[in-house]
Amino acid sequence: METAILFDQEIDIAKEWSAEASAGSSKSTIIQKLEEKYRIHSRKRNFSCQCCSQQVVLVLRDGSPHFRHEGERCPSADNYEKYIRRVNKHESNKTHQVGRAILRTYLEGQVKTHGVLVQEGYMYRSTLHIVPDFILLFPSGEKWAIDYVTGAREDESYNNYILKRTAAYQAAGFKPFYFIDASWIAEIPNRSMISLYLAESQMKVHSSIDQDWSDFINEFMETFGESFVLRELFSVYRNNFSNRTSSSQKYEVFSLAYIDPNERKAWIQRFTPSSAKFGFRIHCAAISLEKAVSLSKKRDGFQWWADDEAEVMRGCLERLSIKYEHEQTQLAKQRNELDQEDHHMSSQPKPMVAATSVTPTYEAKSTLGFVADPSSLTDMITNDMPVAVAQEMIEILSANKARLSKQTLEEIRHKARLVMGPIRNPNPISSGLRKAMIELALL
Ligand SMILES: [Zn+2]
Repeated sequence: METAILFDQEIDIAKEWSAEASAGSSKSTIIQKLEEKYRIHSRKRNFSCQCCSQQVVLVLRDGSPHFRHEGERCPSADNYEKYIRRVNKHESNKTHQVGRAILRTYLEGQVKTHGVLVQEGYMYRSTLHIVPDFILLFPSGEKWAIDYVTGAREDESYNNYILKRTAAYQAAGFKPFYFIDASWIAEIPNRSMISLYLAESQMKVHSSIDQDWSDFINEFMETFGESFVLRELFSVYRNNFSNRTSSSQKYEVFSLAYIDPNERKAWIQRFTPSSAKFGFRIHCAAISLEKAVSLSKKRDGFQWWADDEAEVMRGCLERLSIKYEHEQTQLAKQRNELDQEDHHMSSQPKPMVAATSVTPTYEAKSTLGFVADPSSLTDMITNDMPVAVAQEMIEILSANKARLSKQTLEEIRHKARLVMGPIRNPNPISSGLRKAMIELALL
């Protein structure tokens, strides 16, 4: 293992090695320095294992300085061997080594105040099937497995390995958390989409913030229609992909946490999977590494969110609403023009009122004429329409439902939902109007 006890101190030989290396010392200088500092204590057999308290010996080898058990091995010695083998096989060594050290420092800085202990994964006191970088031990007895993932590879065996790893952690009673190296982030040009490794998909989580976004996106889909949202949010046209067959399928938002330890930065990428290899990019929250390793208030995870995400959601709704209303107005205009052309074709004289009344009153319109001219109906459904008119509209529409086209009904329902606003952040309308809008939305 990389740490041992010298009287009352924990000596982390790998950490000292990399500190010297990053200060610019050559390998031989580092070995010489550490030999001078520690060899005599090793000869006197005064280093002991943190796990089993046996004496351990200092081994200063290039790249993997460590302490070795001489007698019987203990669980942490077994864990250490497995751990080193895993890191050598699956991680980008240099990136992992440097990033891991920074991550540990930041983790300790943030969780210590909560009485949480950060431990090297291999120091766990029983043999683990797969050994994580770090283990967080909570006063409550809860245990988390923390990994810094750097070994980008796209193949089935690596994918299975990540699957197995998550399962192994969970079986050993750990809650797994993956910090992925930021070099993995892959946004697709001209689309708001991301490209994923299969293994990356396995590391996604679904937090309570992700749930808020899920509700939000599904509300968008319901209010504006799927093709509109796909186009406006992700620049994707429905015909371009065929994965989702039914529009009633719910969109679920997940997140991945990426870090750049050297820059002390983190990104929480929220997305809804399109397939195992692609995701619709919902939002990417840029946060500090410090925040990414801070515990949430409930202590059920890390603070994997930006503080302005609720505002981003609202801004998104506003932008979509304006665009949607605009498109609907354009459509209504076009239909009106077509209708008027029809009138000319049948050479019927245009009624004077239509030409002169710029702002039709509700009273003038609230007749059976509704059904004759359904396109004007949706325009009348607004946040400030009188409740009485809304109720009258419901009565007339209910009575004449059979005579209305499916499209008209759908437009009316959409408009009613727009007036209500999103469930979590409803528009400020009177309870009477809300009741009426619900009836209209369910028409
Ligand atoms: Zn031991």
